[in-house]
Amino acid sequence: VRRIGILTSGGDSPGMNAAIRAVTRVGLNSGLEVFGIYNGYKGMVEGYIEPLTRETVGEIVNRGGTVLGSARLPEFKDIEVRKKAIHQLKKRGIEAVVVIGGDGSYRGALSLTEMGINCIGLPGTIDNDITCTDYTIGFQTALETVVEAIDKLRDTSNSHHRCSIVEVMGNRCGDLALWSGIACGAEIIVTSETGFDEEDVLDRLRDLDLIRKKKHAIVVISEKITDVDQFAKKVSLNTGFSGRATVLGHIQRGGSPCPFDRLLASQMGEKAVDLLMQGIGGQCICIRNNEIVAIPIEKALSMPQESRKPLMNLFERLV
Ligand code: ADP
Repeated sequence: VRRIGILTSGGDSPGMNAAIRAVTRVGLNSGLEVFGIYNGYKGMVEGYIEPLTRETVGEIVNRGGTVLGSARLPEFKDIEVRKKAIHQLKKRGIEAVVVIGGDGSYRGALSLTEMGINCIGLPGTIDNDITCTDYTIGFQTALETVVEAIDKLRDTSNSHHRCSIVEVMGNRCGDLALWSGIACGAEIIVTSETGFDEEDVLDRLRDLDLIRKKKHAIVVISEKITDVDQFAKKVSLNTGFSGRATVLGHIQRGGSPCPFDRLLASQMGEKAVDLLMQGIGGQCICIRNNEIVAIPIEKALSMPQESRKPLMNLFERLV
């Protein structure tokens, strides 16, 4: 392998730039030429591809977002569209690609590998919803952002006998909610794994108000579970608290990556280049028990979401 490409795809996450820098520098230092493919698979199809140098990836290790841009291109599922993309790569002599993104991006990477372009996937998402890896690039930074926001909400809700209902991201994965809920001392956490029993949550809030005499309550809830504004109204009507919903939204995706994410991205980028140089594709990089490992994308995509029972139990014991 002499020429490799790199792209970021799907939702962006802090640390993607550190991964781009790592792949580029490790690649160049190993004698490869490295190309940036802009706007994910869209740029691959359109041929928006440019060489990366040591300098072009300078000053980005600490920046959020992705300098390569990201995009969604549903048509990439179509083999004819992928053929166009492969044509663009072959024209430039690019034989292998590092794909940073979520499981959708991994599916694209697997299809390309099956068509003769070796691809390695890196887990770039704040949601931590890629089961095979303990952590995705961006999760820890997003967690810090969420914790900071909830700490601030706590100050104000304390003063107003308020129940703050905070909706956090995570796609279908409850990790951001669970981790931040524990770190912030939330009263209630709702994720896809806990399920949402509205009456039960209202009961618990009444309890917190009347029996525990709490001055405020924080409910952390994963996105895509319920309409939090509607739920806040029900809290105001049915409990002693005044309910207020806060949807943290896209601020969770931004910000300078924390050191953990920068390191994780750098280690994973290094591993991806090493595998491509050995002629290996169709794998994705994970961190498992503090070790950077690769597993087949096919296997990664079929792994069921891990239960977070131990952390959930801990949370219940802290309330
Ligand atoms: P994420 O990678 O964060 O999960 P998406 O699910 O939007 O984000 O996927 C990103 C991109 O990956 C899509 O816009 C599409 O171009 C490509 N992709 C998704 N699923 C497939 C698939 N089954 N086959 C080929 N490409 C896919």
